[in-house]
Amino acid sequence: MRCEICGNEIRGQPHYRIIEGGKMTVCARCTKYGSAEWDPFQPRARPRGRPTPRRPRSEVEAAENLELVEDYGVKIRKARQKMRMTVEDFARKIREKESVIKKLEKEELNPDRKLVRKIKNALNVDILVVEEVSAAPVGAKHSRGRSLGDIMKLSQSKSVEEEKQG
Ligand SMILES: [Zn+2]
Repeated sequence: MRCEICGNEIRGQPHYRIIEGGKMTVCARCTKYGSAEWDPFQPRARPRGRPTPRRPRSEVEAAENLELVEDYGVKIRKARQKMRMTVEDFARKIREKESVIKKLEKEELNPDRKLVRKIKNALNVDILVVEEVSAAPVGAKHSRGRSLGDIMKLSQSKSVEEEKQG
């Protein structure tokens, strides 16, 4: 092993010094260049500075932002009716309050993932938008828009009324 400062072979125990912010392995003579030591046996010797406190990503765990199909309320209601369940039946089946079901069907409530799964199991409907794995067709949408020229033409057809007086 060589000293990273002077390049001489280090005999015996190498010294570990932090020199100008960098971790250096140096010989005994070159320890004078560094002030602090570092520990080569610690995989992550954390440089001085403020410690990084571990904080939960958000203080309030917001409701999951699930992508639901557009008319999930209708979907749920239809599926429920198909299975001849009343709101009460359905609520009991998935162990939710009736009010929850009613709100769901009116789309006044965004279900969380757990509820979505329960609905899926009970009614065999999936109200989550299926994420497409394949790439979307290019330029299928966003094709509308009128050109400025069209608007110009409209305003150019002026109607001048002449009034003769006297
Ligand atoms: Zn040296």
